[in-house]
Amino acid sequence: MADEKRKVLAPSNMGGAGWDILHSREDILLIPYPPTIAAEELHNLLLDAAGIVVSFTPFGRAEVDAAPLLQVVARIGVGYDAVDVAALTARRIPLMTTGLANSTSVAEKALYFMLALAKRATLMDRLVREGRWHDRYRAMPMEVAGKTVLVVGFGRIGTRTARRCAALEMRVLVYDPYVAPEAIRSVGYEPAMDLDAALPVAEFVTIHCPKNSETIGMFGAARLAGMKHGAALINTARGGIVEEAALHEALASGHLGGAGLDVFEAEPPSLENALLRRDDVLTAPHMAGVTAEAVAAMAQAAARNVLSVLDGAPLAENVVNRAIID
Ligand code: NAD
Repeated sequence: MADEKRKVLAPSNMGGAGWDILHSREDILLIPYPPTIAAEELHNLLLDAAGIVVSFTPFGRAEVDAAPLLQVVARIGVGYDAVDVAALTARRIPLMTTGLANSTSVAEKALYFMLALAKRATLMDRLVREGRWHDRYRAMPMEVAGKTVLVVGFGRIGTRTARRCAALEMRVLVYDPYVAPEAIRSVGYEPAMDLDAALPVAEFVTIHCPKNSETIGMFGAARLAGMKHGAALINTARGGIVEEAALHEALASGHLGGAGLDVFEAEPPSLENALLRRDDVLTAPHMAGVTAEAVAAMAQAAARNVLSVLDGAPLAENVVNRAIID
């Protein structure tokens, strides 16, 4: 009987593998919702929900308060800057994320931005299509081998980006104040103890730290000015870690050579955003973690995360507010 079932809400953009897992359980009443759902409508659905899977729908205190029976929130992905963790923790509700499911996809995207910028992909493509073959020697592509990359954040994604850069014979510096320098050295990279001291030596800076009060505005005008002349900045982490107006200024002045941006201060960015008019900026609509493989893996992980809590055995490694289950 439906009213004996536990209600789980899932966003319509969750991959099929997640639906299969949750549908296979007779004790779960699975309710789809559009990820752009209006708050009031979501609150109505939350009234008797035991669990919710969220993709990009913000989940704040109002949502927690609207859900008196809620036992678990499972994010499709690893970032949780749009979730009020404190509000969940106060109710002893675990917030679950999907671990490694999209780490490889994001690391590959960071590498794609680096290579596409180094090889001047946009310009080269345009020269052929516009019949400007003769212009091809004007702006030389470059090799990444022998260049220095600074990886900011050495977690699931940063470690994978570092490994890929090293395979391309790049010198890899790592800045992560929460990882012991020996742990960075032991896998063959150089720990950068001081971000500002490392910036002037790197041709590429790639950001892989979370967005939080410590990292918002981390790359503002002063930091960007500290980067090496002609260097490229890659942000596949979160909008707001890089100040877009300052980045535009650094590119327009010729100080920086390019940027690869998967994420923006406002998403989608305004079409008036000056960065979108620059050839030396490559963009993507927050898709670094979205590949066929990652969507399937994240959907499976999110579904298993929800069930683990409802079955009384939370998958501890995926719980963000772990203290509540310890
Ligand atoms: P993670 O938690 O495994 O690693 C984050 C690392 O950042 C940790 O090692 C941490 O010590 C480090 N860190 C924290 N504060 C720092 C600081 N001030 N300076 C430098 N390093 C710092 O997370 P992850 O799975 O590697 O993901 C990293 C981020 O990537 C996520 O928080 C998320 O916002 C973003 N992300 C984006 C997409 C996308 O589609 N664009 C997809 C997945 C993740």
